[in-house]
Amino acid sequence: MSLAERDQQIIWHPYTQMKTAALPIAIVRGEGALLFAEDGKEYIDAVASWWVNLHGHAHPYIAEKVSEQLHTLEHVIFAGFTHQPAVELAEGLLKILPEGQSKVFYSDNGSTAVEVALKMAIQYWANLGTPKKKIIAFRDSYHGDTFGAMAVSSRSAFTAPFWSYLFEVDFIDVPVAGNEAETIAQLEALAIYGDVAAFVYEPLVLGTAGMVMYEPEVLDKLLAICQQHNILTIADEVMTGFGRTGKLFASHYLQNKPDMVCLSKGLTGGTMALGVTTCSNKIYNAFLADDKGKTLFHGHSYTANPVACAAGIASLALTTSPETQQNLERIATRHQAFAEELKPLQGIKEVRQRGTILAIEFADESTSYFSNLRDLFYNYTLEQGVILRPLGNIIYIIPPYCITDTQLDKVYQTIKGMQKLIADR
Ligand SMILES: *Cc1c(COP(=O)(O)O)cnc(C)c1O
Repeated sequence: MSLAERDQQIIWHPYTQMKTAALPIAIVRGEGALLFAEDGKEYIDAVASWWVNLHGHAHPYIAEKVSEQLHTLEHVIFAGFTHQPAVELAEGLLKILPEGQSKVFYSDNGSTAVEVALKMAIQYWANLGTPKKKIIAFRDSYHGDTFGAMAVSSRSAFTAPFWSYLFEVDFIDVPVAGNEAETIAQLEALAIYGDVAAFVYEPLVLGTAGMVMYEPEVLDKLLAICQQHNILTIADEVMTGFGRTGKLFASHYLQNKPDMVCLSKGLTGGTMALGVTTCSNKIYNAFLADDKGKTLFHGHSYTANPVACAAGIASLALTTSPETQQNLERIATRHQAFAEELKPLQGIKEVRQRGTILAIEFADESTSYFSNLRDLFYNYTLEQGVILRPLGNIIYIIPPYCITDTQLDKVYQTIKGMQKLIADR
């Protein structure tokens, strides 16, 4: 039996309808932007393995640092104890994060990073003696799959069975071009009552919504309204962090800075599961008290795992290197040129780009995730040896920064092939 067949007998995969799913592709090795399958076929990982990989697969420098750490200390309880990798990574992050971030809280993934931020925000108000219940989020947002994260995410088909269990959230529209004034008005209408605990948002790019993009100017205005009305702001940079949007963080495009930041995905360069929630001293100080009830009672068994933190430190060194900076500019420039080439073609509804992220929306009758273009696209790209995971009728590229020009060309050619598939339909 092949690995894939053994898998299919016993494993339940994420986001997968197991009844109709094809056999999974067994990957045996990775190098740079390439993944090698059990049957010898190679694939360009144009989606950075669910947006996590920054510097390529099995990166030798990260591997070396992880290995060293494994031989030194693999894990230790993080309540009452600490270790070098946790301290060093926290210091490194605070140096580059948006101004005002002062404290680092570790967890395991993007969803938990959001859960922690929500709990910090809600308990902040409780600790001050002025509890506030309301949370504001973007209507099409995605913040994770645990219950709190689901609650602040779009009420989509993905979460339908759980809607009645999710706490109430006030949704405002994403301020895409032409919609800015409307979104500002919606936020102002909610803000004036003084009962909003926090506004949680994906800065500049809503990933799961289909790489939906909006401008820094309008986000700055929304954040200003929040500051004016004492609403805490949570930047979910789980996807946008670590160079994805061209700057180290999407928040760096803004004048107004968030109270809290959530990080995961690229945090370890795609090597290990790790989440971080950072906050300002204003938040942190509200938890300092002689009353033990004001403690943030949250933690996970693997909080600040030293091996994951070591991967984070190694990835951070690579991310802030001049070579990565050059790669970010190179990819953005090439994306822009390709976007211009695509725009006039038949069947292309919209092309969006920011930094290393390029999204192409194909014209289609149904615009949902379940669009029938999706399977057509997905199978075609795999045949071509390129991993592109469409979100419905939207194809996006979010590559490891080490992707070569030749590999990028092949990804672009595959997308043009898809455009032809549709035009010829
Ligand atoms: C992926 C993602 C999450 C959830 O992260 P997981 O590690 O998958 O739990 C949260 N927020 C955003 C913006 C994301 O893209």
